[in-house]
Amino acid sequence: MAQSIEQIKAAIRGQLIEPADAAYDAARRVYNGMINKRPKLILRAVDVADVIAGVRYGQENGLLTAIRGGGHSGAGLGMCDGGLVLDLSKMKGMRIDPAMRTVRVEPGCVWGDVDHATHALGMATPSGFVSTTGVAGLTLGGGIGYLTRRYGLTIDNLLSVDMVLADGRFIKANARENDDLFWAVRGGGGNFGVVTSFEFRLHPVSTVQFGPTFWPLEQAADVLKSYREFIVSAPEHVSGFFAFLVIPPAPMFPEALHMKKVCGIIWCGTGTAEETEKATRPMRSVGRPLLDAVGPAPFPAVQSTFDGLLVPGLQWYWRADNFTTLSDAAVAKHVEHGSKLPTMLSTMHLYPVNGAAQRVSRNDTAYSFREALFAEVIVGVDPDPANAARVTEWCKSYYEALHPYSAGGAYVNFMMEEGHERVEASFRDNYGRLSAIKKKYDPTNFFRVNQNIKPAP
Ligand SMILES: Cc1cc2nc3c(=O)[nH]c(=O)nc-3n(C[C@H](O)[C@H](O)[C@H](O)COP(=O)(O)OP(=O)(O)OC[C@H]3O[C@@H](n4cnc5c(N)ncnc54)[C@H](O)[C@@H]3O)c2cc1C
Repeated sequence: MAQSIEQIKAAIRGQLIEPADAAYDAARRVYNGMINKRPKLILRAVDVADVIAGVRYGQENGLLTAIRGGGHSGAGLGMCDGGLVLDLSKMKGMRIDPAMRTVRVEPGCVWGDVDHATHALGMATPSGFVSTTGVAGLTLGGGIGYLTRRYGLTIDNLLSVDMVLADGRFIKANARENDDLFWAVRGGGGNFGVVTSFEFRLHPVSTVQFGPTFWPLEQAADVLKSYREFIVSAPEHVSGFFAFLVIPPAPMFPEALHMKKVCGIIWCGTGTAEETEKATRPMRSVGRPLLDAVGPAPFPAVQSTFDGLLVPGLQWYWRADNFTTLSDAAVAKHVEHGSKLPTMLSTMHLYPVNGAAQRVSRNDTAYSFREALFAEVIVGVDPDPANAARVTEWCKSYYEALHPYSAGGAYVNFMMEEGHERVEASFRDNYGRLSAIKKKYDPTNFFRVNQNIKPAP
């Protein structure tokens, strides 16, 4: 017989939040202010036992069940309408093993939590570009960030996971145990179960060389053409993503540049100041930059540079693609659409995903686009809901203009809910294997609030 609400409440150590509770509205809020979902129940788990209880409760009561890590999914996939949300945000345990250079992280941690802990020991693991993003969702989709060229994607540094499966079993997956599942969770998202612990490899990263070079929009085509060549042969200790952006009115920028639309490269070098200067100088000398300000910074400060701008609750709409090349025609489209940024926070980023990330083959993990040079993301952002349609339209038309030049699929963590074809296109020849593994571990597609992989027939 299915458990009642009273029984599940008595069984867990965390909290069960219902629509009538004072905590409900805050608990159902996610990062993207465009998302307004109303679940029936939110189970705020504090340990693995709570997660197991939640999965069993969802199954027995036939509830659509979502998993919430950091809540940063642009599509709002950490929340659902009318069902059960397994909210892991209170599971923030972490344990570093300095001798083994590893860190174990619970799924409620955001990257800022991890950076804070590992930086004290002069180490880091590859994550993203923003410290408030959840460890869980970012990792399960792949993980693209400042350290990708040097140390690979986040999943390339994932050593092991603990998981609660759709039938409530608790298992470990790594290269030796349940290796099929371990392959699938490295890029396949939250399709296969609830990850309750991640173990990552750490690297010696402490002070890095960080800062932007900004150019006027009139130089954007030349900058992009130089950048596409530069990034292919740049040493792996250098990372720098290209962006169209509006310079915010922040004290760190000269007032004359405030609110100016520009293009730029945001640098992060893990070599010495001299090595970074030598490696980046040819690119930083292209044309006549408006601002060039690269200098030493602690890695956690770099990771949280954009936190103050990209606060929770903004209207957020994004589209993405992978690119193996950037033709002159694609550059022209970028300049055309990048010059029309509709609001101060809207932006387009080209993240370099070559270097160490390309030493893993396209079938070694579920993440498929290993030959891509850039992961592109176009983001329409604004605090005002009245601008939601404007930023969405800009984003869609930019995406449609560039998509014909793309490699055909996207990084799943930068997608909205765009239909099953897009999911298949993003996994390419890995989709069949993912679908077979889904059938083995989640045959009824219980975990389907995600970029969904359907169980093989
Ligand atoms: C401001 C911002 C900056 C970003 N920057 C980067 C970046 O630099 N690099 C990058 O790679 N990505 C980046 N992303 C994208 C990010 O990786 C995805 O949005 C990711 O899904 C966020 O994970 P989360 O845990 O915060 O999200 P949630 O919304 O909580 O979850 C997202 C998905 O993961 C699943 N999930 C969450 N936790 C678990 C779990 N424990 N077990 C199983 N499934 C789970 C959920 O079911 C859902 O489908 C950014 C997103 C935002 C909004």
